[in-house]
Amino acid sequence: MAQIDTLPPLRDVIAKHELSARKALGQNFLLDLNLTSRIARSSGALEGVHVIEIGPGPGGLTRAILAAGAAHVTAIEMDERCLPALAEIADYYPGRLTVHRGDALKHDLAALANGQRTRIIANLPYNVASPLIISWLQTEPWPPYYESITVMVQREYAERLVATPLERKDYGRLSILTGWRAEASILFNVPPTAFVPQPRVMSSVVQLRPRGTPEICRMKTLERITQAAFGQRRKMLRQSLKALGCDVQLLLSKAALSPEARAEEIDISGFVRLANTFDQL
Ligand code: SAM
Repeated sequence: MAQIDTLPPLRDVIAKHELSARKALGQNFLLDLNLTSRIARSSGALEGVHVIEIGPGPGGLTRAILAAGAAHVTAIEMDERCLPALAEIADYYPGRLTVHRGDALKHDLAALANGQRTRIIANLPYNVASPLIISWLQTEPWPPYYESITVMVQREYAERLVATPLERKDYGRLSILTGWRAEASILFNVPPTAFVPQPRVMSSVVQLRPRGTPEICRMKTLERITQAAFGQRRKMLRQSLKALGCDVQLLLSKAALSPEARAEEIDISGFVRLANTFDQL
């Protein structure tokens, strides 16, 4: 594809700043401009949008997001070796890139969004992808400060995020929290050869779009119920829900669920019913 900017090629940036990839930081860089542009564009038109990017690294995806027209990018990067490379991008796009150094898990993203139209886009470090995504799904108040999340994660994790009771193997607590609050889909898969260095596993770009009005229930109760139910996922609910310490027969009959059903057969509405019934009891 045509160049997206006149900054030096990413391979030269990596060599100049000696950015040898560190496994402990989940560093698998994307150097293919077609791919970074595809990820940036897959969140929709970016004009007028503020993007929060986690882990910009040498800045390949950052450059694609800025070239695609994002009004501003706020990036959080743990590795200080990347900061000079990112400063060059900030100079090239004056006033459109702010970089914070540190752990994204410790940043208040809602404060960074500061009321702007915000999307999260990232090639996530796989070691912290799960706590980050769960914290974004647990955001209060809801609807959250972001319009959408478009991120690269391990394919196996992506499949757990989007699973329904039809895909029993992957369906679990994560799928329920995700599906309750967001519409989640796998946009496309990415082979290991797309990264430098290559990871051992396949990856996927997933998109989460927050539901404006999720079915009403208390998140803490929903999590407690799914923890009990999937703690013993092969057992019938009348057994697995004993961990809740309530009258399980009554709970299940009031929630109109069969005591013989297993957790992996119950859809999200079923779990919401269980949570609300549990709170009423
Ligand atoms: N965005 C770049 C790309 O696509 O080539 C790099 C992606 S790489 C998979 C993940 C990046 O996240 C690395 O630059 C790494 O240093 C950074 N990182 C790792 N843990 C982090 C954390 N807790 N907070 C912020 N950044 C982190």
